[in-house]
Amino acid sequence: MILFSGCERKSKFPHINTEIIKKNIEKIIFNENIDPSSVRYDPAEKAKIIKTLPEGQMKLVVLSYHHIDKPAGNLSNTTKSMFVTPENFEKQMKYLYINGFTTITIDQLTNALDNHAPLPKKPVLLTFDDGYKSFYENAFPVLKKYNFHAVTFIIAGYFGKGRDELYMTKKMIKEISDSGLIEIASHTMSHPFLAKISPAAVDYELKQSKKILSDITGKEIKYIAYPYGSVNSYIINRAAALGYKAGFGVYKDYIHYKNQQFLHSRVSVQYTDNLSMFAKKVEIY
Ligand SMILES: [Zn+2]
Repeated sequence: MILFSGCERKSKFPHINTEIIKKNIEKIIFNENIDPSSVRYDPAEKAKIIKTLPEGQMKLVVLSYHHIDKPAGNLSNTTKSMFVTPENFEKQMKYLYINGFTTITIDQLTNALDNHAPLPKKPVLLTFDDGYKSFYENAFPVLKKYNFHAVTFIIAGYFGKGRDELYMTKKMIKEISDSGLIEIASHTMSHPFLAKISPAAVDYELKQSKKILSDITGKEIKYIAYPYGSVNSYIINRAAALGYKAGFGVYKDYIHYKNQQFLHSRVSVQYTDNLSMFAKKVEIY
């Protein structure tokens, strides 16, 4: 199932360390029946790998959100965990503002790792997955209020088809992109487990989503988040070849590596997080 691109020691993409990626990929569990949010690296294993990297690593908060909305009462706890209520979200953004955090862009993150570009004080990268309408309605106004930057990873095959109730329309995506605060990035076409589909299907998911989102925004789409964090070295190499510059998973970690720009970790903010739990997640500096 897991596709590795041979045993070459050096990747043809200088920003990818194939050896390290391979070590990490082997730790990802592939099982269709498990809770998608549990698909991630083994943190203990990753900690071991971190120790072997003397330089080119950085500690940084990257948060991931899904729905900014009140969950319906009949949802399972797992589904509920993907929600943050608008009230809590407002409190969390206010907390970041009051406590001197600075929201950054992915460009700033990659530049800091690649070129030692300085980052502002207490940097935090805010990311939102799936392109829900609740982002437009409940998160975007708050982000505008605080002049905060954020990234939305959009499922580019989910426009129309009766999905306008739940997902942002093309018009909304254009508007948030034009605001200059929100970066639009890919979350594939159909939200598959990328590591479980054919190479041709992977190419379609990566290439077509990049094109569609670029056509909507008039901007280059440089970044991708892998649905369920499902990724392997084949996917990473194809993403780089197709012009992506970095990729994001769901791995609950704060360490970012120069040589692993396609395996950025994120820490998810969940329904049950009260403000002090949120503070604990971001106060790492
Ligand atoms: Zn997703």
